[in-house]
Amino acid sequence: MALSESPRANDLVQISSKEALIRQQIEKERRRLEQEAGIVRRKIQHFQRPVERPFTKSERDATTVLFGGLTWKHEKLIHGAMEGLGYKCEAIPVPNKKAFQLGKEYGNNGQCNPTYFTVGNLVQFVQNLEEKGLTKQEIIDRYVFITAGACGPCRFGMYEAEYRLALRNAGFDGFRVLLFQQSGGLNQAEAEAGLEINLDFFLGFFNSLNIGDVINDVAYQIRPFEVNAGETDRVLDASLDMLQEVMRRKRPFTLEGKLASLLRKTNLSATAELLGKFLNQLYGDDYTAALNDVRDRFNAIPLDRTRVKPIVKITGEFWAQTTEGDGNFNMFRFLEKEGAQVLVEPIGTWVMYLLHQAKQQIRGERGLDLVEKGIPKWNLKKTLGSHLDTQQQLAQLTVAEAMFKREYRRLINALGGIAHHLTDQYELQRLGHPFYNSHAEGGEGHLEVAKNIYYSNKDLAHMVLSLKPFGCMPSTQSDGAQSAVVSTYKDMIYIPVETSGEGDVNAHSRVQMALGEAKVRAKNEIKRVLDETGTTIEDVRAFAQDHPEMQQATYKYGHQKGLVGVAANFVAHAAERMRAESRLTVAVG
Ligand code: SF4
Repeated sequence: MALSESPRANDLVQISSKEALIRQQIEKERRRLEQEAGIVRRKIQHFQRPVERPFTKSERDATTVLFGGLTWKHEKLIHGAMEGLGYKCEAIPVPNKKAFQLGKEYGNNGQCNPTYFTVGNLVQFVQNLEEKGLTKQEIIDRYVFITAGACGPCRFGMYEAEYRLALRNAGFDGFRVLLFQQSGGLNQAEAEAGLEINLDFFLGFFNSLNIGDVINDVAYQIRPFEVNAGETDRVLDASLDMLQEVMRRKRPFTLEGKLASLLRKTNLSATAELLGKFLNQLYGDDYTAALNDVRDRFNAIPLDRTRVKPIVKITGEFWAQTTEGDGNFNMFRFLEKEGAQVLVEPIGTWVMYLLHQAKQQIRGERGLDLVEKGIPKWNLKKTLGSHLDTQQQLAQLTVAEAMFKREYRRLINALGGIAHHLTDQYELQRLGHPFYNSHAEGGEGHLEVAKNIYYSNKDLAHMVLSLKPFGCMPSTQSDGAQSAVVSTYKDMIYIPVETSGEGDVNAHSRVQMALGEAKVRAKNEIKRVLDETGTTIEDVRAFAQDHPEMQQATYKYGHQKGLVGVAANFVAHAAERMRAESRLTVAVG
């Protein structure tokens, strides 16, 4: 076996020398043709990333770190967490149409819609600061902006350059943009000591995202059924104020007392502190206790779950499906106004997707380092070393996945257990891959297709609405795949909407039409349940009023196969309870 592998390494050496020869010949021919045509070659000027003035520790107290791009709930929590870590910070408001126009005015042409909105939003923010009386230099000196970034493959890779270009064109040349890399964490070289990217920072950030996710999910679940209009939003506002304070007051774990001084004399101090931070994260109750409090506040909002509402699952591009403003035509509020229940997408799915993709890549590249270095497989020491290295990387990511899911589950339970759990990435890959290769990255990759199938087929939504930004490359690709999906799953109601800075009326009217179909489905469903159970909506409503726990947000009524809507599932459950109670009355009588 080992001997038979040896010629393959020789083959590789031969192939690469042949390739070098071919390249040489091509180059020779190119020069000949250029000479013939009189073409003079100029030295290629590659793009160089501008060297930016660093954000240093000494500037921290006088510098405000700006961030944005999520929902106001997530941002409020991140704000609290960052202040708790000692930073001055501010979330820039949700982008509006003016931001979009500014993005177009100061940025490059031909970008995707989220680029215009987010880039223009930062320009709008600094312009507002100027209008309030700060000079341009003061703004450049006293503010920095932190954002997510990546090296592509879609336009996401250009965000950083776009921010800088637009700021320069708007007269804010030198404004610092710090990049939070999608892969590889925050770029330390950029953040320098002004922004300390350590475990405390990551924990604060991810806790804020996760708490924001579960609270957002629950609010969207209960708002459509609140008996007193506006009560959910009032409770949500007050709860977020309280949670922000909890995040702000949370102090990162540090070793203290005699044990700390003892450990400091050894080289175990750093390991012990790291362990302490993890244990504090896994078993601390600062956040869960606060969420118990929010659960009780939500439970005090009376709900009428007999209202028949179609469930609309939101999918699409990350930013377009998350933002709650002009960037997606204010679609969530529009849907609720039209009588739908919105099933929002948690940011946690995206985090799990990134971990899943990282594992896929490691698996796909297994052993390539050996090929690259020309190491034959019979070199057992090196082969085993490479194999163990791969397994170690996979194990680390598996632990990260398990911990992330565990923490998310803990928060869900603390908030009453009704928020949705994170969708299994392997299940999504299994569903999406036949239509969209799960190795193809960029944007939501195969997720958009997979979620469509998942939510429609598991009776979790009456309709799937995909928010796809104008000019989004990955979304355009998945559009093609979705036509194969809808022709395979003929029952699904799926509508893709291209989001832009204009065209709200057109988008709303398209959604309204699809929603009409979803409403009919929800109505037929409740009619079937009422017929089968021999009860009426009025009976169920009266029964729920006699049993106040049934009107609470965290009341569990189960999910029956074949039933999607809240009203249908609630009526089926209530009818069962009514039957059980009447059997008991007869037995006692
Ligand atoms: S996924 Fe689409 S909209 Fe989002 S950054 Fe990439 S190209 Fe733009």
